[in-house]
Amino acid sequence: MELTKSAAAFAEAKKYIPGGVNSPVRSFKNVGGTPPFIVGGRGSKIYDIDGNEYIDYVMSYGPLLLGHGAPCVTAAVKEAAERGTSYGAPTLAETELARLVCRLVPSMELVRMVNSGTEATMSALRLARAYTGRDCIVKFIGCYHGHHDSLLVKAGSGAATMGVPDSPGVPQAVAATTLTLSFNDVPALKKLFAERGKEIAAVIIEPTPGNMGLVLPEEGYLETVREVTRAYGALLICDEVMSGFRSSQGGSQSLYDIDSDITCLGKVIGGGLPVAAYGGKRKIMELVSPAGPMYQAGTLSGNPLAMAAGLAALRYMEEHKVCEELESKTAILCGGLAKAAKRAGVPVQVHRLGSMFTVFFSAGSVKDYATAAACDLRAFGIYFHAMLEQGIYLPPSQFETNFLSLAHSAEDIEKTIAAAAEAFKKAARC
Ligand SMILES: *Cc1c(COP(=O)(O)O)cnc(C)c1O
Repeated sequence: MELTKSAAAFAEAKKYIPGGVNSPVRSFKNVGGTPPFIVGGRGSKIYDIDGNEYIDYVMSYGPLLLGHGAPCVTAAVKEAAERGTSYGAPTLAETELARLVCRLVPSMELVRMVNSGTEATMSALRLARAYTGRDCIVKFIGCYHGHHDSLLVKAGSGAATMGVPDSPGVPQAVAATTLTLSFNDVPALKKLFAERGKEIAAVIIEPTPGNMGLVLPEEGYLETVREVTRAYGALLICDEVMSGFRSSQGGSQSLYDIDSDITCLGKVIGGGLPVAAYGGKRKIMELVSPAGPMYQAGTLSGNPLAMAAGLAALRYMEEHKVCEELESKTAILCGGLAKAAKRAGVPVQVHRLGSMFTVFFSAGSVKDYATAAACDLRAFGIYFHAMLEQGIYLPPSQFETNFLSLAHSAEDIEKTIAAAAEAFKKAARC
């Protein structure tokens, strides 16, 4: 596989953009090599400037539930663009998307649209602090909630990959209000609340963490988190920026029957355009400006092109029961991957939920950041490059989640399993 043009483009990009990319994971720093520069995507495939074709399991890190260039989304964006790209005034589409989101995720009674997942979680924390009058928040090691100061502490994927779990530039005083816990550790949770429960405004959690690779909650864990937060008057913020419309149509809170106080959405909600949202119980959300005193605003929030894309994607998802179809496709793929690894004698843990999955290169079970971090990263790197060579584009880090789209065909899945059989053999030899 040739990547000559991509290598030159990467060198040129580095002259003007830090590290040559606008988001760190895209640089391939963790696995080495040159990231292909992409010219287009269609369905399950992406194409690079060297003329290579790949079956894509990155799907823009989650948003593209329907695949690249989904006709319903493209048509909606075109139609909206012809009426102008932004007004700074209310539009009907904003109410339509808000209404749809509140119906799909019933714990959300009022919802505010923003432009990125980072913005959603940042606003959700401010809201929880405003509502409770408390300063501390609790997050889980290896969960990622965006790159603002309060949450850039032990933050998984990008940060973990780069080896800078705590970024310089985050004031000590801000980091000090962020308390961290290990995921799936009930005694630690109870101990922290017994000691500092009255200072804690909120627990922010990915109910099914996807930013240390996909990790699942143990039986009863999320219920305990809900009970403990309620007992101490702290809010529960479910960050479903990744899992929303992915783990199931109503997200992980619906799968695990958790009543969230505030929910953050992103990725799929924008159908591939920059949209995210935070919302929750009416009495909490009524604090948000201009209904209430907690300030939060955005020049391009609720942008008409982005609303059109999100509405088209979510309507299609609901009408065609996309999440159910994707879950069965993902099960077939993951079954094939597990079998191929076993045949090659490579110990892996294959986790899946809805249309998300991760292959952990680990002999032991993976249930939190420590067990995820213990994976064989060298074997992952060999597997990753062997897949890329065969035209399978995976997220370039052990600590990312893979995504399927509606556009992935039975043939794509078959090809992927066949490629993985070769890639596992290579990893076994190392
Ligand atoms: C991607 C992600 C974010 C951040 O969203 P951005 O749009 O990249 O700012 C926050 N939380 C979770 C769980 C995510 O997966």
